Amino acid sequence: MQEVKPVVLGVDVGATKILVGYIDSDGTVPLSRRYTIERSNRVSTIASIKTAITDFLEIPCCAQSPQAIGVGLPGLVDAITGTWMQATNLPITSPVDLTAQLRENFKLPVAIDNDVHAATLAELHLGSGCKTRDFIYLNVGTGISAGLVCNGQLVRGANNCAGEFGHTSVDMNGVACECGSHGCLEPIASGGGILAQVRALLPEFPTSYLRNFLKPDQLTASLVFQAADNGDPLAIEVSERAIKTLGFALINLIVLLNPSLIICGGGVMVDGWMIKQLDNYIAVHALPFVYQSLQGIVLSTLKADQVGLLGASILAWKSIGKI
Ligand SMILES: [Zn+2]
Repeated sequence: MQEVKPVVLGVDVGATKILVGYIDSDGTVPLSRRYTIERSNRVSTIASIKTAITDFLEIPCCAQSPQAIGVGLPGLVDAITGTWMQATNLPITSPVDLTAQLRENFKLPVAIDNDVHAATLAELHLGSGCKTRDFIYLNVGTGISAGLVCNGQLVRGANNCAGEFGHTSVDMNGVACECGSHGCLEPIASGGGILAQVRALLPEFPTSYLRNFLKPDQLTASLVFQAADNGDPLAIEVSERAIKTLGFALINLIVLLNPSLIICGGGVMVDGWMIKQLDNYIAVHALPFVYQSLQGIVLSTLKADQVGLLGASILAWKSIGKI
């Protein structure tokens, strides 16, 4: 008879969806399901997370119940007290004692954390980060963030905010960022920033190939990169600026932390174009003896649509002392 492995319940909360799944200690996901997140107000958002978990637990699947629940959340999370402090892309503007609420509802151990910190823990325990004690998890999607692992430990900072790499300053005369600062990296090199720059500059490049992709959801960073390779002047201008600025900022991070690996995740990284360009930039511009200790800048080996769940599972396993 096949051995049934113990599982935990992982919950990956994003701006538009809630992904719930069972995960075993090897990082296998025997079952997951996607739910819609309610975004109209704070109460309904929290209720939709609880409803998703309740619905998922009622699916006849595993021969045993999950041992704990782990939740990865966008925004600022106090992982020690189990409080979701705030999120900019969901209506969470004041602290929510989410761990206590979920523990009361589901009678299981619960741990919560910021989603990028959770993904970084997934890389550390289940991904390429297993092989090293010093790495940077660089996520470039709609926004930009980084998870920093030094001497085998996730760097959290004073209030769990360490790694807000997208809001490092790269241009003293830069544009306003949604965080309230000026000159941040994110509006220049994130997926959202790249698309916004293409749209803003299109009147100056009326014959650009990219003019054919202006309907909602048609234009992607990958299309911009392909157009750059094909010589489109607008695509070249925007993508070169993104690479030079991200490369510049990444070199600062590498020189400060001396990592042996940079593991890349996020929708903008998936096609590999940005990784190759960043590698070329860093090879030329980074301090040679720091660059020599960098074994590579690589795409995450974890499935892009599962890394959030896997990170949540690490939180759950840690909460019951199984990691
Ligand atoms: Zn910013």
